[in-house]
Amino acid sequence: MEILDGKKISNQIKEEITVEVAQMKERGEKVPHLAAVLVGNDGASLTYVGSKVRSCKKIGFESTLIHLPEETTEEDLLKQVHQLNNDPAIDGYIVQLPLPKHIDEEKVLMAVDPDKDVDGFHPTNFGKMALDMETFISATPFGIMELLKRYNVDTEGKHTVVIGRSHIVGRPISILMSQKGKPGNSTVTLAHSRTKNLKELTLQADIVISALGVPRFLKADMVKEGVTIIDVGITRVADDTKEKGYYITGDVDFDNVSKKASFITPVPGGVGPMTIAMLLKNTLLARERHNN
Ligand code: NAD
Repeated sequence: MEILDGKKISNQIKEEITVEVAQMKERGEKVPHLAAVLVGNDGASLTYVGSKVRSCKKIGFESTLIHLPEETTEEDLLKQVHQLNNDPAIDGYIVQLPLPKHIDEEKVLMAVDPDKDVDGFHPTNFGKMALDMETFISATPFGIMELLKRYNVDTEGKHTVVIGRSHIVGRPISILMSQKGKPGNSTVTLAHSRTKNLKELTLQADIVISALGVPRFLKADMVKEGVTIIDVGITRVADDTKEKGYYITGDVDFDNVSKKASFITPVPGGVGPMTIAMLLKNTLLARERHNN
């Protein structure tokens, strides 16, 4: 069994980006600038945005955090989005999800300029991704593809079962895994909450990508020997014995499933850090595209 070490690979990617940014600086060029918009004080969102901004600093990007109060109206958030669209200093930005209930997420994401949409959530970018065109691939599926690539995991002709059909993980990764390419060329089954025979499907899978958000959902008796496991799930489980009052766990019963797996991602330290690295990669791409 080999661990797909997202922490290690994400550090490699960040080092590669750091070198490119240093070269940009040497050439007297503007360095990439990522902005993040956060509305409200959701604990997990604060953590995610904080680590995105810190990562920018470490690799030499400029970054701006726009932290708006929970009561921000949809209209004011849309104004902020338009401002970012029109600000030439900003190469790319993200609007951290989830947004408070009184704001229509779809409306906000539709307002983001696709050329600055480094999260790859805009329909234009999602559509381009589905058509194999140059785009911003959303960071989590992009990170999974990069991890498989850098560990040379053979995906060609393999049966990949994706669990979860969200717009940000399950659906896009199912498309990417079926596309021509390396990684890719997989035969994909997309399973979701209405799937009736999930265990039958996962038992046939050479690769399982789990993105549902239920702690330790995928058990050892649901997978075959030699399977490759990508665990996207990140769930905070309350635990008074921990300093933070919770611990983080994935969708996979790691201790038992790892005994049967040929490759497996841990949680934490698997897909999570790759997501941040690929957001930075997309921001670098945005800068390069704006240069051209
Ligand atoms: P979501 O919460 O929007 O949707 C969950 C999906 O799982 C749905 O499509 C649903 O049909 C499916 N599902 C639920 N119960 C099921 C069941 N019993 N059997 C089969 N399918 C079932 O999904 P999301 O936003 O993609 O998030 C999934 C998990 O991934 C969460 O834990 C989230 O925190 C995590 N996540 C991690 C990263 C990362 O960077 N590693 C990024 C995004 C999401």
